[in-house]
Formats: sequence, structure tokens, C-alpha cells
Amino acid sequence: MAIATVNPATGETLKTFDPLGDAELEERIERARRAYHTHRTTGFGRRADLLCRAADLLEEEREDIARTMTTEMGKTLTASRAEVAKCVKAMRWYARNAEGLLADEEPAAPDVEDSGANRAFVRYRPLGVILAVMPWNFPLWQVIRFAAPALMAGNVGLLKHASNVPQTALYLEDLFHRAGYPNGCFQTLLIGSGAVERILRDPRVAAATLTGSEPAGRAVASVAGDEVKRTVLELGGSDPFVVMSSADVEKAAATAVTARVQNNGQSCIAAKRFIVHTDVYDAFCSRFTEAMAALTVGDPMAESTDVGPLSSERGRADLEELVEDARVRGADVLCGGRRPEGLPDGWYYEPTVLAHVTPEMRIHHEEAFGPVASLYRVSGVDQAIEVANDTPFGLSSNVWTRSPEEQRRFVRDLEAGAVYVNGMTASHPALPFGGIKRSGYGRELAGHGIREFCNATTVWFG
Ligand code: NAP
Repeated sequence: MAIATVNPATGETLKTFDPLGDAELEERIERARRAYHTHRTTGFGRRADLLCRAADLLEEEREDIARTMTTEMGKTLTASRAEVAKCVKAMRWYARNAEGLLADEEPAAPDVEDSGANRAFVRYRPLGVILAVMPWNFPLWQVIRFAAPALMAGNVGLLKHASNVPQTALYLEDLFHRAGYPNGCFQTLLIGSGAVERILRDPRVAAATLTGSEPAGRAVASVAGDEVKRTVLELGGSDPFVVMSSADVEKAAATAVTARVQNNGQSCIAAKRFIVHTDVYDAFCSRFTEAMAALTVGDPMAESTDVGPLSSERGRADLEELVEDARVRGADVLCGGRRPEGLPDGWYYEPTVLAHVTPEMRIHHEEAFGPVASLYRVSGVDQAIEVANDTPFGLSSNVWTRSPEEQRRFVRDLEAGAVYVNGMTASHPALPFGGIKRSGYGRELAGHGIREFCNATTVWFG
């Protein structure tokens, strides 16, 4: 895949970049190693100052970087601005909280004594140079979600960003540099995915985090496994959005629209499968379909746009194939199911609702990475849980019910890294984020995230 900015709203190639050569790559890995040597010994106060400075700069530059993101991957400008704000918040959160999250942990006094120690504790020390392989869909947030805790823990970062967001990737390196981070603490590597293995096998690189598709995750985890290096994988999702008969149907339907079409439908934690109790199915279905059909699809830079183009021609073709497969196998297309008319040559697709989705259809098992919703009708909590769990993925889940008993069942039985009750999934720095099953492993955000790339060191004094 060429490293280039191609505007999804027009299909126009705006800028291309040459990948780094071998010598430049070697130089950057070595620079990272040297930077780690120093950065690991700095105190939390210094690290927090640097991260806050980067957050301040990012906040000041919000409009410019938001426009760059929208130009590179097509999310609405409103969504890009919100993404910048979310990054700033997470940076400040880690600057404030990292020291407490990584404080020494002392076992109970009788256990210390029982171990034969006068004193014993666990210290969270950094691991080293961490390689981050990141996707285009939240081009700033995915990187900051890794970089803020990693840098606060004393690690340094090498970023291999998706090939279609090179300007956002270069901006990130520049941002950390201007914030005052020493050379090599955070570097962007303009490289294709073929160069990842070599970097991961380099002994100077300690671990990797990958956010992206399952094939990419498998490739990186295989190499890391071979090298016995730690990985965090944040992969795809096909989150259920369950609506039970006691739910506030109006609110659930309105939230369902946002949950499905956020980021032009290209979010791992977008709700993708809507599982609705038969008592409220018709009411939910008509409200939801009406609202999906009423969304404005168009120029992502326009304030009035709800849904911009998909990020690539390939992405739209994949989505079209999924919808076509469902249609041929008997799904009803309640709205959308085609490219909108009257728009320029971008990769637009109409918000789409499919009813009567069955396990024979690809969309039942695969991730629909665009504004396409699948509807299921169920007769009770057992069936709702069965359908919700009938997926290879397990990222997050959403349930709408006012019944405490049903809430208890969903929290106990849904196979996912998160259960959101009477609301939609949205990450927050203080709450861990990550999946199970084919959605990956490991956690980002909160204390869990910052400790993923730490060496939990037992310190024992006799
Ligand atoms: P992708 O094609 O897997 O790309 C993600 C990153 O991996 C890119 O930097 C890509 O580089 C690189 N890559 C691809 N194949 C690779 C390989 N064999 N070896 C090493 N690196 C490789 O995914 P995407 O299309 O950009 O993103 C969409 C996917 O990400 C969806 O499945 C979505 O659900 C998932 N996602 C998950 C989360 C989460 O937190 N769980 C968040 C956002 C997105 P190139 O661009 O150069 O190919």
C-alpha cells in the first residue's frame, strides 16, 4: 500500500511519501534505544510536564490537525475536533495519574514476613522501546491512547501508522518534539507493513501494540511470539446492542443511530448488531430506520454532514459485498444498501439497515466496517444473550433494560471486554478498554493500560 494522503471525499491523491530506507530505519531504532536509556530515569514530574505541554500544543492546534485528519480519512470535521479534545483529556489524565497508578505495591505485612523479607514490594519499571502499529480510523486517538501511558511509564515509542494517514503520523512526531521530549522518545516511521517484522525482531525493541484488523494482529503476534515479546492487540468488533422490552425505546433508538454511524460507521466499538425483544421490535425498528434514513451523507468538512465517506475504495467495496451477500441470502434492506446519488466521486455509502439477518450470512460473523446495521428479533433474555455471543468478536456490548434481573444476567453472561447498560460504548481514560475472543487481548487506558508495558518487578529485602 502506497504511503499517501488520498482524500476519501474526492478520491484525489494529494501527497505521496517515500518509505524510510534501511539506513534511516536503523538510525531511528538506535535513536530510540538511546532515548530510552535517559527517559527511563526521569521522574514522574518531568514526564508529566512534557505530556501536559504536548496536550496544550495539541489543544491550540486543534483546528489544523482536525482538518488534516478529515482530509486523510474522511471522518466529519466535527468528529475530528472531538477526537482532538479526547486526546487532550487523556494526556492530562495520564499526566495527573500515572505516578499513582504505578506506585509501589506492598503486600500485607504478614505475607511480607512470611516471605522471609524485612520489606518487599512490587515496582512498575518501564520495558523499553515499544512499537505501535496503528490504524487510520481514529488516527490521533489510537496513537495517544498508547503514547500517553507509555511515555509516562518511562517507555519510548516507535509509531508505524496506517499508510493512508502519513500527515497525521508526522504531525504526532512533531508534536512530541515541539513539546520538548528528547530526540528519539517518540518517532514516526513512514514504512509499509512489510517492514514491521524486521523492527519487531530487533533486540532493541521490547514489545508491540497493534490496533487494527485480525490478519494484521495475527501477523504481528506471531512474530512477537517467536521473539518472546509482549503484545497488546486491539482488533475488530461486532458489538451487540440489545434492547429489551422494559427499555426506553425512543432513547435506545436515538442512541443506536449514533452508536452505529459514529466515525462514518468505521469504529471497532460501534454497535453493529441490534438485538431487539419482540415486544418492542416494531417500535424500535421504525424509529431506528427512520432516523438512519434521515442522516445527511456528504462532504465531511461541512458542519451539516452526519456521515462522510468511507476511508478507501476497498473499504466501501468490502461493505458492498457484505450487504449484497446478506441481500442474496434473504435479508430485507429497510433503508440504504447503495451509494448515494448526487455526490462527488468520493467513497460514500448510505446508512443501511438490514432485517432478517441469519447465521448463513457473512455479516452475521464478520465486522461491517461502515454504516450498516443488522437487526435481530428475540423472544427473551436467554435468546438475546445467545445471539449477542454468537460472534467471533468480543470487544464491547450495549444493553438496554430497566430490569435489575436482566441487567445482572447481561453483566454476568455477555462475552465482551465491556458491558454498557442503558448507554453506548465510549472509552474513558479511567476505564480499561480491550477485548476477548478475536477482538484481541490486553487492555489500554486506566491502570491496566499503563501496566501492560511495565516490568512488574519484585523487590525483596532480607
Ligand atoms: P489494518 O489493515 O489491520 O491496519 C492496521 C495497521 O496494521 C496499519 O498500520 C497497517 O499498515 C498495519 N498492518 C496491516 N497488515 C499488517 C501486517 N501483516 N503486518 C504488520 N502490520 C500490518 O486495519 P485497518 O483497516 O487500518 O483498521 C480497521 C480495523 O481495525 C478494524 O477491524 C477495526 O475494528 C480495528 N480497530 C480496532 C480497535 C480496537 O481498539 N480494538 C480500534 C480501531 C480499529 P498499512 O496501513 O501500511 O497496511
